Amino acid sequence: MKTSLLLFVVFFITIATSAQKITQKPNFILIVADDLGYGDLGMNGSKQIPTPNIDRLAAEGMNFSNGYVSAPVCSPSRAGLMTGRYGVSFGHDNNLGGTQPGFDPQYLGLPLTETTIAKRLHNLGYTTGLIGKWHLGYEPQFHPLKRGFDEFWGYTGGGHDYFEWKSNGKGYKAPIECNYKTPQPITYITDDKGDECVGFIKRHKNKPFFLFASFNAPHAPMQATAADLKLFENIKNLKRRKYCAMVYRLDINVGKIMDAVKKEGLEKNTLVVFISDNGGPVYSNGSINAPLNGQKGILLEGGIHVPFIMNWKGKIRAGTTYENPVISLDFAATFFELAGGEKTDNVKFDGVNLMPFILKENTNIPHQSLNWRFTISAALRDGNWKLIRLPDRLPMLYNLAEDISEQNDVALQNLDRTKAMLKTLGNWDVHLPHPVFLEGYKWKARQLHLYDVTYPLVQPK
Ligand code: CA
Repeated sequence: MKTSLLLFVVFFITIATSAQKITQKPNFILIVADDLGYGDLGMNGSKQIPTPNIDRLAAEGMNFSNGYVSAPVCSPSRAGLMTGRYGVSFGHDNNLGGTQPGFDPQYLGLPLTETTIAKRLHNLGYTTGLIGKWHLGYEPQFHPLKRGFDEFWGYTGGGHDYFEWKSNGKGYKAPIECNYKTPQPITYITDDKGDECVGFIKRHKNKPFFLFASFNAPHAPMQATAADLKLFENIKNLKRRKYCAMVYRLDINVGKIMDAVKKEGLEKNTLVVFISDNGGPVYSNGSINAPLNGQKGILLEGGIHVPFIMNWKGKIRAGTTYENPVISLDFAATFFELAGGEKTDNVKFDGVNLMPFILKENTNIPHQSLNWRFTISAALRDGNWKLIRLPDRLPMLYNLAEDISEQNDVALQNLDRTKAMLKTLGNWDVHLPHPVFLEGYKWKARQLHLYDVTYPLVQPK
């Protein structure tokens, strides 16, 4: 009698637990900073910029010390984020500039052959929202509301003025678009985006949602509020002072989003991730990638190795670090599987679901190797070895386990490895399709120049 009662109870609990699993799909919040320097967070050693909220996101979650993006500039990196695939695998190699001779402007955006993670999650019953920057095409067919987002507050371009938009404005002054309310004048755009994210969370707290919080901070134009600038008046370099104030304000708004998740009681059912879309462009926005060498636009670590955080209360152990290489392409694959999506032949990711790895259910590593190709440059990371190939010099090889700042090129001391990696990289490269659009040719020479200048590798006081 007792045994049958026990069995009944066990049976009931099993049914209840599996039912809960089916109904409680997790929410996803993807917070993206724009052109943030690797070293410009407290957690990564900054002594100049307090970032208590982003630090807390990592301290209460997991910090990935070898987190990468799939491209060193905005648009192809975001193409990777949105699809879970290398942009170069479908022709989205370049940043979005004007149309080049011989190219069709109808293709100037995230190729329509690709399905975004927003669309996939929408199809799985999620409400999807983009707050902020898109930068994946201006033509109507590329509009975020046509690529899987239910709600959009923002702009389709690659950057925006922080204080103003105009109804007939172009470029950084483009009007704010919104499909759920009439956009008001902006106060300071980082604050406005934070507020819209909070609004989205409140509106959709009762069913699964995907929020892409796409900040433009600290991307140019370099603009900060007078009050925030005052906090950094000890910094003499005006560009750096503005930059610090912009990152400080970004951090406050990340805190706003975290507080909203907590206030609505969603912490245990919400996976929050934070990343920068590429490394800091040291010489244009005043960022610091220390201890990483290089910057936005190139394949040294400073261009592609970024802050990378996952936070999920009760699921991901607080205060942990994951050291194996991961890539932003993993987010789409992770979200898709957590949402109950089924892998079919039509669902292709270059990224992988990270959850089994970080929960130690799978003790293998997520990626033995990672590849990059960006216009004239290409790179391969295989284990701790990284090879970079450029058109005007011998290939460069670094051992990242000993040389995270890429100061000692050991290609000639390891010729067999260099040759083998060059062959692997070349073999990947020649099987990729043609780019569907190009950016202006002048960027190629500027890119080479960026490999020859020096970068700050230690933090300023
Ligand atoms: Ca960027």
